[in-house]
Amino acid sequence: MADLANCARCDKLFVKSSRSICRDCIKEEDKKFEIVYTYIRKRENRQATILEIVDETGVEEEVILQFVKDNRLRSTQFPNLSFPCERCGEPIAKGKLCASCSNEISSDLRQQQEIEKVKRDNENEEKNRARTYFTRK
Ligand SMILES: [Zn+2]
Ligand SMILES: [Zn+2]
Repeated sequence: MADLANCARCDKLFVKSSRSICRDCIKEEDKKFEIVYTYIRKRENRQATILEIVDETGVEEEVILQFVKDNRLRSTQFPNLSFPCERCGEPIAKGKLCASCSNEISSDLRQQQEIEKVKRDNENEEKNRARTYFTRK
């Protein structure tokens, strides 16, 4: 039996595939991609930013961002296709965070892990001490 899922865009039930949106929405998206791609493929538009594309094509910013994130529009080919870092808003071309934010987050994470470890060690020590106390008694 086919797996059904709700389309992430229009919420309609559809037969699940590798995409999270239904056929109609994929078709709709492909049409938008065609429009955007036709626009940016032109030599004079290669340097366009996402906002310029939105203005020129009428395709929603969010949809264009998705194309970039999906690598359908490559930032290597179109250098100004960037989107904001989810943390600080710096323009980035891939992933969710800019390099400095992802560095910061991973060092935060490491710190957090250190703290957790020390806490665990203390707790263990405490438990050990309690046990020693009991056996002595
Ligand atoms: Zn849909
Ligand atoms: Zn950032």
